[in-house]
Amino acid sequence: MALVVQKYGGTSVGTIERIRNVARRVAKTYDDGNDVVVVVSAMAGETNKLVALANEVCEFPSEREYDVMVATGEQVSISLLSMCLQSMGYKAKSYLGFQIPIITDSAYSKARIQKIDDKKVREDLKNGSIIIVAGFQGIDKEGNITTLGRGGSDTSAVAMAAALKADVCEIYTDVDGIYTTDPRLVPEASKMEKISYDEMLEMASLGSKVLQIRSVEFAKKYNVVIHVRSSFNDNPGTLVTKEDADMETVLVSGVTYNKDEAKISVFRIPDKPGIASRIFSPLSHANITVDMIIQNVSSDGYTDLTFTVPKTDYKKAIKIVEETAKEVGASGVKGDENIAKVSIVGVGMRSHSGIASKMFQTLSQEGINIQMISTSEIKVSCVIESKYTELAVRVLHEAFDLAKKDVKAE
Ligand code: ASP
Ligand code: MG
Repeated sequence: MALVVQKYGGTSVGTIERIRNVARRVAKTYDDGNDVVVVVSAMAGETNKLVALANEVCEFPSEREYDVMVATGEQVSISLLSMCLQSMGYKAKSYLGFQIPIITDSAYSKARIQKIDDKKVREDLKNGSIIIVAGFQGIDKEGNITTLGRGGSDTSAVAMAAALKADVCEIYTDVDGIYTTDPRLVPEASKMEKISYDEMLEMASLGSKVLQIRSVEFAKKYNVVIHVRSSFNDNPGTLVTKEDADMETVLVSGVTYNKDEAKISVFRIPDKPGIASRIFSPLSHANITVDMIIQNVSSDGYTDLTFTVPKTDYKKAIKIVEETAKEVGASGVKGDENIAKVSIVGVGMRSHSGIASKMFQTLSQEGINIQMISTSEIKVSCVIESKYTELAVRVLHEAFDLAKKDVKAE
């Protein structure tokens, strides 16, 4: 007998019919002799509706009340699923975050889980109940309701699995697993059997939206194996797990892209100590995160600086940078929203050479100009003109030989 934590996302519980489908899956896992704890998201679209309602009342709602509001979506889905299981003859019991309790810090709308008390859940499991836990929410030490950030139910599930020392944490979603790239762009994309925590972290921060980044960090820290799979079929999905020797033999595991960033360049800045901090401090004060940064080698005492920011912050950022540029005596600022970042990811890069150069060569063969480059131990990212995104992803996927090999797996 195993202890299984299952998480179902918004689309999987989007309608009553789908909630019934989830109930049948949960029941089957229980009937197979497992203890089952289920974490659910709000029904598809509900959280967006709640956010819009809050913003309709005022532009900047109080953070505390915002969390009280957006946490309600999950209250509906847990009770519906619980009722559904009960009507099928199972013992089921739902829990909101504060009832468990799932203790978080007080950073509203992006709270971090600090502690989970597993006592009540363990007792209920012993009595043969299936436990349904609201994802995305917790309570701080002062008793305020908190939420964990969009997509946070993934983190709730992994945290429950860690607290209960579950055998596996299954994350059910509307895709079959983690793919070598976006199958909507490249139909030959193949599903990975497994991926390491670090690769998954890179993929998630580079734009793959299957798992919330924090859930992967949590899983890595507590060694929780995540099984990402579809709630609409029985195909095995992808295991997100500790790195093993096999993984290193693959040069590149996946290709990702991100069109959510914009580029800003500042020209002819007098090259003196403290310049970078003068440019970037006002941005960080405005809570704008900067991603890639390139500073040119200075010639005749001047240098150029180029960096990327989230597109949603672009207008704000360029205004701030224009002001600072004037103050520091730069000659001008230019922005470009038509960019995309394409990246290759793989732990194999640590032990193989020539991977970055193969990427550059592949892009150049298609006449794609590389505007910026950044690297980490296990990824290489290039900024290119956004109209070439699809082409770049396709040729890189092919160059690193990531297409389906085993057709029968589908
Ligand atoms: N319902 C929340 C959201 O839409 C949490 C989640 O789905 O994971 O962000
Ligand atoms: Mg999600």
